[in-house]
Amino acid sequence: MAKVLVIGAGGVGSVAVHKMAMNPGIFSEIALASRTKSKCDAIAASVKARTGRDVATYQIDADDVAATTALIAEVKPVLVVNLALPYQDLSIMDACLAAGVNYMDTANYEPREEAKFEYKWQWAYQERFKEAGLTALLGSGFDPGVTSVFAMWLKKHKLDTIRTLDILDCNGGDHGQAFATNFNPEINIREVTAPARHWENGEWIETPAMSVKHSFDFEQVGPKNMYLMYHEELESLARFLPEMERARFWMTFGDAYITHLTVLQNVGMTRIDPVIYEGKEIIPLQFLKAVLPEPASLGATTKGKTNIGDIATGTKDGVEKTFYIYNICDHEEAYAETGNQAVSYTTGVPAMIGAAMLVQGIWSGAGVFNMEQFDPDPFMDMLNAHGLPWQVKELDGPVQF
Ligand code: NDP
Repeated sequence: MAKVLVIGAGGVGSVAVHKMAMNPGIFSEIALASRTKSKCDAIAASVKARTGRDVATYQIDADDVAATTALIAEVKPVLVVNLALPYQDLSIMDACLAAGVNYMDTANYEPREEAKFEYKWQWAYQERFKEAGLTALLGSGFDPGVTSVFAMWLKKHKLDTIRTLDILDCNGGDHGQAFATNFNPEINIREVTAPARHWENGEWIETPAMSVKHSFDFEQVGPKNMYLMYHEELESLARFLPEMERARFWMTFGDAYITHLTVLQNVGMTRIDPVIYEGKEIIPLQFLKAVLPEPASLGATTKGKTNIGDIATGTKDGVEKTFYIYNICDHEEAYAETGNQAVSYTTGVPAMIGAAMLVQGIWSGAGVFNMEQFDPDPFMDMLNAHGLPWQVKELDGPVQF
């Protein structure tokens, strides 16, 4: 029985709060704060209608450490679940330290002025959380999050060592729009237009964005083109599975998405440096976000499935084996349950589960932790029980791409 404060009322925050409300034995009280309070109130109304539970709502600008500290002191949660944007990670961690409360998020810190996400800024909080006797859990979404837990589960149960790891993220959903992103457009486009990077023989290999592609036949989705990308869990996986020779991340994109993005890039609309427009500084990508559909608005029309998982090759008792572990999530089922599409659902459910691990003391410790550092089993059990069932199968051999 624990009180939590969720910050961020987007699609991910909405799913996490709905799922917390469905588990009153774990989350006895839920508070939700965000920059726009009306979004918190809309989520609270949906939660009330679906579960009968109350969610207390607050307005907060989480870039303001003093105001966030005061809010945490007023609400008195045991855990703050940061589901705002990566830009707020450090200010919310600072507020948690000042208020003496545990911290969790789903995406690593990224400075606004540079599309560069790295754990170094958050890992630098290790000593402060440790000295305060508080826990900070980083990256409890799907990717990062479940993809790391999948890898650690394979290492615990199926393989003695992991030699190569490929993370495959497929969204086979169709939202009926010419161009839209399934989570925050600014964060999504910064991620997709950044150079690809993968881990190979102890170093990062960089290739131009979207320059390496392969087709893969995803169960219940069909064949899709997937592109090599950098993704933040590669950094923590390379740290906690140092035996890996190679770790890569792939994400599927349709041709129409790539064509739109290429045009937007070519005309300068994805720039993140300020330009002067009618005497005022604007960031082109932020303006683009303002004219694109809100990801939360896509839920009602999105059909199809996501299929996200890991393929790992390694040895078990000296014999080489390859396993594929994955979850398939249906957009329409996710929408029926929480009012949000599957990309928000696949992130919000693991956020709820990570919070459940912490507030029940199943995962504990003083300091800053990644998902790889805890026992995967209780987390994997909750995935099966709370809407993201997974499957594992042995493949004939290593990936051929
Ligand atoms: P949205 O843009 O839909 O929602 C973000 C929310 O945060 C909005 O309610 C926004 O408020 C609020 N917010 C933004 N800035 C502030 C601030 N300064 N203070 C308080 N609240 C603020 O994003 P998503 O729900 O799609 O994503 C949420 C997080 O989840 C992101 O960090 C994203 O990177 C991460 N994510 C992680 C994934 C994973 O698998 N690990 C996958 C997908 C997303 P307002 O409405 O006023 O703008």
